[in-house]
Amino acid sequence: MDKHQEFRQQVRQWLRDNCPVSMRTPAAEDEQIWGGRHIEFQSREQQQWFERMRDKGWFAPDWPIEYGGGGLDRKQAAILNQEMTRLQCRPPQLNLGIWMLGPVLLEFGSEAQKQEHLPRMARGEIRWCQGFSEPNAGSDLAGLQMKAESDGDDYIVNGAKIWTSYANKSDWIYALVRTDPKAAKHDGISLLLIDMTSPGIEAKPIELISGESHFCEVFFENVRVPKANLVGEVNGGWSVAKRLMQHERAAIANFGGESESPYVLHQLAKEYIGEHQGRIADPVIRDQVVSIDINEKAFALTLRRTMEEAKQGAGNGAATSIFKYCSTEQQKQKGELLLKILGNRALGWEGDDYSDQELAITRDWLQSKTLSIGGGTSEIQLNIIAKRVLGLPA
Ligand SMILES: Cc1cc2nc3c(=O)[nH]c(=O)nc-3n(C[C@H](O)[C@H](O)[C@H](O)COP(=O)(O)OP(=O)(O)OC[C@H]3O[C@@H](n4cnc5c(N)ncnc54)[C@H](O)[C@@H]3O)c2cc1C
Repeated sequence: MDKHQEFRQQVRQWLRDNCPVSMRTPAAEDEQIWGGRHIEFQSREQQQWFERMRDKGWFAPDWPIEYGGGGLDRKQAAILNQEMTRLQCRPPQLNLGIWMLGPVLLEFGSEAQKQEHLPRMARGEIRWCQGFSEPNAGSDLAGLQMKAESDGDDYIVNGAKIWTSYANKSDWIYALVRTDPKAAKHDGISLLLIDMTSPGIEAKPIELISGESHFCEVFFENVRVPKANLVGEVNGGWSVAKRLMQHERAAIANFGGESESPYVLHQLAKEYIGEHQGRIADPVIRDQVVSIDINEKAFALTLRRTMEEAKQGAGNGAATSIFKYCSTEQQKQKGELLLKILGNRALGWEGDDYSDQELAITRDWLQSKTLSIGGGTSEIQLNIIAKRVLGLPA
């Protein structure tokens, strides 16, 4: 047995012994645990699972041990991932720090930044949010205006961010700021790490069409940020941001994996539309269900293979846009089909006339519309694929 096979056996056993059975099903949104200063566990098992994974360093399995990671090589980290999927283990915590900022700090951060921030991310102690978009800078992100002016050892930050997910619940924000207003738009941008408790920051929630409210507007008024919190070169933030967005797209594509969805299409179709000789009664719906099932399966396998290849090679690159595009468009199609299956049972919004699942499907359908916008719209992903993956002219 080679060392990776041996490792697989050990991981499999460890997960069997340490992942509570109740943590082996997809987590509904209100059961997800986000790392941070104010974690609230809903059960003893949830806390145990969080603490056991944290103590192994497996929130960030392939980060170096000195920064709080698990010190696994890329192949071992891929094995851990596969074994968790096999046992259907829930992610023990969700954290933008682990998915997006951490890998960028490992690549571009100063030693002091790595030591200050990575171990706290790897222990799930700090919740991060992303301050990129502004009212006039979404797809055209490089048009951002929030400014950071030099003042001795600090920057003074003024401006506003919008669509900042969970800013009101986050401990820190990584934000793109304009440090040189005279430079060409891509050349005057820097990435700053900002403590959300700094005086002058206000996060205001915005209500969404689905009834949820995880978006915020964030206002910055004369916020003092130490220059030590600048990531990479001053005015060199665009390269750092592009890298960070590749990690973001990989993470979003990963959420679309088949194990994440709580709905089993063919069961629901049989329940709502009816069954004929063990098959979904309506042949058109049957065809659509099978088509989505096959696409999901093919997507999950391709994603897994590519992620593993990326872990063994250069990491996430521009091709993550392909996955982000396919995964989010597919989830929207699935939302549409679920609605068709439910028929008039999908007309509910709240109250006792509809089951919890029916209400959730309707709300998820609306929520699915946001997936191909967050992290860069589908049109922008297609532009990136055309230019950076296929090498077509601009
Ligand atoms: C669920 C969700 C979570 C988000 N979380 C965050 C967050 O945490 N932090 C953050 O900073 N932002 C966040 N965002 C904001 C998100 O990044 C932006 O909404 C997105 O980049 C699009 O920008 P916009 O809304 O300004 O739309 P616009 O840029 O105004 O685009 C409007 C339309 O024009 C199209 N378009 C624009 N330019 C082009 C072009 N060059 N070619 C073709 N079509 C084009 C777009 O595709 C879109 O259909 C989130 C958004 C969503 C939906």
